[in-house]
Amino acid sequence: MPKQPTYWSNLNAAVKTLAHGLGLTFQHLLKARKRSRSFAIMQPGYFEAQQGIATVQYPHEQIPVPDNGRYKLHNEIDDCIVCDKCAKICPVNCITIEPIRSPEEFGKTSDGTSKRIYAAVFDIDMAKCCFCGLCTTVCPTECLTMTKEFDFSTFDITTHNFGFGNMTVAEIEHRKNEWSNHQQTKTQTEPVAPKAPILKPKITPPTPQTD
Ligand code: SF4
Ligand code: SF4
Repeated sequence: MPKQPTYWSNLNAAVKTLAHGLGLTFQHLLKARKRSRSFAIMQPGYFEAQQGIATVQYPHEQIPVPDNGRYKLHNEIDDCIVCDKCAKICPVNCITIEPIRSPEEFGKTSDGTSKRIYAAVFDIDMAKCCFCGLCTTVCPTECLTMTKEFDFSTFDITTHNFGFGNMTVAEIEHRKNEWSNHQQTKTQTEPVAPKAPILKPKITPPTPQTD
């Protein structure tokens, strides 16, 4: 049966723990005296200068974030083909896209993919985003990426809805009309397909039974 702690053994353990913690703090304090100046973590020699320091002076100093971290999303809209894959896969529906089709190719992305759809709206509501990264995985042109920006807190949650569309209201109207006119012209000029003849099923009369 394990020995039950007594009042005095508890007190002894508390004093020992406290002494150990204070000893560590004191060691850091002594080492920290060697740190003479505050400078950015990206500058050479930062870690050599961190004698005894366990806390960085955020936001003046920042610990580098990992390259594969998932933080604020960015869409390089000029490389977006408005395929809607990101919006479809998003588990929390935080990507809103309003596409406008173009009658013909109007440009290419930096990887040479043909652009045929304009993005009248391309919004990402980062307040809803769960940072799963699925949207960046499915993006065929790799224009949707996670940046290293992690501190974008605000007092107003509505400002977390980031818009990446760069079309003006007039341009949106123009492109919508262009597509609608194209559709009308297509309907008027398309030849009417001839009606297929109605084929009647051939009924063979039953042969009379002879006994
Ligand atoms: S990271 Fe996930 S939750 Fe956030 S926008 Fe992309 S798919 Fe949606
Ligand atoms: S998956 Fe990529 S290319 Fe497609 S709409 Fe989203 S951001 Fe644009």
